[in-house]
Amino acid sequence: MSSSLKIVKRIRFHAGHQLDSHDGKCSNMHGHQYMVEVGVDGVIQSKGAKSGMIIDFYDFDKMLMDQIYDPMDHSFLTSGSEKISTWLKKNDNKLYYIGAPTTVENISRHIFDKLTAHVNSLPTDKYMYKICLVRVFETPDTYAEVTRDAEEQGCGGCCG
Ligand SMILES: [Zn+2]
Repeated sequence: MSSSLKIVKRIRFHAGHQLDSHDGKCSNMHGHQYMVEVGVDGVIQSKGAKSGMIIDFYDFDKMLMDQIYDPMDHSFLTSGSEKISTWLKKNDNKLYYIGAPTTVENISRHIFDKLTAHVNSLPTDKYMYKICLVRVFETPDTYAEVTRDAEEQGCGGCCG
């Protein structure tokens, strides 16, 4: 029998978007309060100020604020191709580029890849954790989830 452990933090942000090729009402510009859950797994520190922790919630919060909340909150999430995005940019609105249609699937993949790249850039002797889960809720009842692939699990496998 195996078990796994991960630490999860939740944040919320507001943003507008438009799925301009959608065949329903999502083709209109509208907004959501997105809720994002991020999970990390890794080595539980055995000494020092972070003893017993995978990641200090203070550090976790700062990472999510810097990487997700600050750039994305009150922005227009954009693929870069919506007609309205050109106007918004010209009029000094805050845009956040996803690089693909701004479905909850693409937003969750983008956040997972961004956070993973950020964590991978940290010195490995000090930061022994990895992103293992990202869930993005577009409404309280609908979300997309990205988990780290099983073959990349290096810490006992938290999200299988
Ligand atoms: Zn929407």
